[in-house]
Amino acid sequence: MLCDKILEDRDFGHLYIIVNRRAVRYTFRPANDGTPKIGIRVTVPPRYDVKDVVRAVEQNRTQLLSMLQVNQTAKDKKTETVHIDWDFRIETDCLHISFIKGTSQKVLFHKEAAQIDKNMHGEEIILKPAILQFVCPPDFDFDKGDRQALFERAIIEGVRMYAKAQLLPRLLGYAARYGIQLNEVKINSSKGRWGSCSQHKQRSLLNSKKSYNINLSLFTLLLPMHLQKLILLHELTHTIYMDHSPAFHAHLNTWLEGKEDAFEKELKKYTTSIFSFVKKE
Ligand SMILES: [Zn+2]
Repeated sequence: MLCDKILEDRDFGHLYIIVNRRAVRYTFRPANDGTPKIGIRVTVPPRYDVKDVVRAVEQNRTQLLSMLQVNQTAKDKKTETVHIDWDFRIETDCLHISFIKGTSQKVLFHKEAAQIDKNMHGEEIILKPAILQFVCPPDFDFDKGDRQALFERAIIEGVRMYAKAQLLPRLLGYAARYGIQLNEVKINSSKGRWGSCSQHKQRSLLNSKKSYNINLSLFTLLLPMHLQKLILLHELTHTIYMDHSPAFHAHLNTWLEGKEDAFEKELKKYTTSIFSFVKKE
């Protein structure tokens, strides 16, 4: 999603204004941006008037609120969860997460950074994935109190830490290779979207070089390396083409050496939920 402008809203958190050349009127959809207020995507025609968009949101506020409620109920029903216990394992290219029995009566963390090298083409290769182990007392009761929820949060925070350590330099490496200037890169826990890109509005008119803000879902780190590349290059292609036009895809496909379609198809196997990456026996 390439967003032209983000407005703050008391009920919806963020209003993402997206320009679409074929749009003739405003359309509103849930943004599912990972914030509690969900956000609204407003698709608008080119040369729109921001004040008019704000007015339209005001006029449709009641309907929009009920749209978000329906969306949230549907999502709550769909969210799959996995029981967290000794068998819980995530083993992806870049990160391995597991629970092991310790000797202490405390829960301890064992962390190891990934070992990464580059091949002759300058592409990263993972020699050894990062490790996150939760070392728990041998007779640990995973269901006591709100331990399930606490571990889910701890796992997500662990993924976030390694996503910052790995995805940021990976993205900056590609940006440098293609001469793209980025203003800010953020890692979020956005659900339903792997990444987004928006143009950074320069304060100074003298500095006319465009730069961009990119948001990446922390779950991107759990994808296989070639699909991470798809996500990162997809967002970087948005710095050249604002839309998903044939020209956008042609460009991205060149960067991916003709594999965009195959990679996109493979990406459909994954969702932006921690539980979709749990290793099943
Ligand atoms: Zn896109």
